[in-house]
Amino acid sequence: MTTPADLDRWALRGLVHCGYCEEPMQPAQQDGQPRSYRCLSPCGRSATDANGLELMAFRTAVAARTDWGATIRRSDLTTLAADTWARIVVHGDLADVRFVPA
Ligand SMILES: [Zn+2]
Repeated sequence: MTTPADLDRWALRGLVHCGYCEEPMQPAQQDGQPRSYRCLSPCGRSATDANGLELMAFRTAVAARTDWGATIRRSDLTTLAADTWARIVVHGDLADVRFVPA
């Protein structure tokens, strides 16, 4: 059985890019705060909720990658995302995310 500890806590590490400045967004978590991906450049972009983005990425990938079949699991997201997209560009918020095919 898969436990949360088995999951890569940053499944989209290296794929998420800032829509303002194009720089890679970095995993970030401050005490007591939800996980996020954050742009470290001074472009003014705020952090993006990691759980929300990862869930969106998973659902988008499942819809796009029927070749992966019905056995696809959330724990496959790291491999699935890297195989599906060259990058994920976050503009304003989760309503404005662009998935760039690999
Ligand atoms: Zn930025």
